[in-house]
Amino acid sequence: MTTVYLIEEYEHHIPENIKKALLFCSKVADEANIPIFLIGGIVRDIIISRKNFDVDITVQGNAVEFAKLVQEKCPGICQVKEIHDAFKTAKIQFILNDNGDECVKIDLASTRKESYPCPACLPVIEKIGCELYEDVIRRDFTINSMALSLNQNSFCQLIDYLSGYSDIHQGLIRILHHNSFIDDPTRIIRALKFSVRFGYKLDDETQKLMHECLNSRRFDNLAGERVKLELKQALNINNAEVLTRFINENIYRLVDTELEIPPNIDDLSKKCEQTVKENMGFLYTDENIWLIYLGVLLLSRETLEKLYMSNQEQEIVINADMLAQKKHTLASAKTRFEVYEFFEKSRIESILAFLTKNYDLKDKVDLYLNELQDITLSINGDTLIKMGMQPGPNFGKLLREALRAKINGKIITHEEEIEFAKSF
Ligand code: ATP
Repeated sequence: MTTVYLIEEYEHHIPENIKKALLFCSKVADEANIPIFLIGGIVRDIIISRKNFDVDITVQGNAVEFAKLVQEKCPGICQVKEIHDAFKTAKIQFILNDNGDECVKIDLASTRKESYPCPACLPVIEKIGCELYEDVIRRDFTINSMALSLNQNSFCQLIDYLSGYSDIHQGLIRILHHNSFIDDPTRIIRALKFSVRFGYKLDDETQKLMHECLNSRRFDNLAGERVKLELKQALNINNAEVLTRFINENIYRLVDTELEIPPNIDDLSKKCEQTVKENMGFLYTDENIWLIYLGVLLLSRETLEKLYMSNQEQEIVINADMLAQKKHTLASAKTRFEVYEFFEKSRIESILAFLTKNYDLKDKVDLYLNELQDITLSINGDTLIKMGMQPGPNFGKLLREALRAKINGKIITHEEEIEFAKSF
């Protein structure tokens, strides 16, 4: 096996402040004779020239002690932020300049050997501080199982026991052993995510084992929280292929074996992607895109709870369905205010899921998103009190009617609102 060094790639793709922090770590590791490596996603992303600021270091030994040692050797620069004694992992933070805005966070993990006591259970740790090889073979795919030495005598040497480098160049997602999906079925969603994100294919054996696992339906021990996390990351890519393959390749069974599959999933997925792209400006965050996709599927409350979704997340998904059920109200809305009333209590994500399945009502959805949702009154209860009115339930009615008049274009200016209030 030829030795590969990724010095140039490291120089080009790791930001300067992260390189500075890593140099501190290297020096401390060398002094103490501890092998340390960049590991997992960041190594993969260095090779494919993709930005990645999640810096994971594996310490062949005890990462907690190493974290404390770096703090001790770099006073005022490095601080231990978190310690997890059971896993022997730690988070450290470097402050690299005087005003404190050049900050680098690094996750440190001890090399560890794991095994799975039963299908889809959480792994148990067999050994901490094991050889790097043992740590690498507990991982998901070959492309995520490479390490990059950070010690000076082998700086940037790629440790690639499982041919991840060659799989990256062939565009292949490959699991590490034939029980991998049975051990941890969430890897199926991860495979989908990486496949779509990078345009890679699942290698034939991996594809076959994925289907066998999905057909086995042995997911009783699978933690919904972990499924949610992976599904969120995959759907947040906003690529129609994720939803299409999620359904067509039966990956949905990890979420709900009885899922009612919507017809024309290809079309629906493409519409969803397009709807999100066209309306991105209305979303407060792109972290919630996955909820729009889930809103398009008819997921039961029970399934959403099984995924440990928060109340707000559940409401967004369920509300998309509720809007769809009363779509005739929107279809027959005659005034701008009726359109406003239909959507006013809904989150944008629910509205976009509704739109995906009801393109015939696009004009009304667009009207709400582009114009109506931002209309507010300039008068409020205080204004009415200043005008000499007595506070009471009538205030609510008056302000609602004023809003109706404003949205319907009957009043426009502040003065007209005041006049409206006076004449109410
Ligand atoms: P992303 O680029 O989406 O952040 P990532 O792989 O870089 O993905 P994480 O999901 O944080 O980042 O995972 C870090 C590493 O941990 C992976 O590269 C992989 O080596 C390992 N890993 C993560 N999830 C699993 C899993 N379910 N089974 C085995 N190894 C895993």
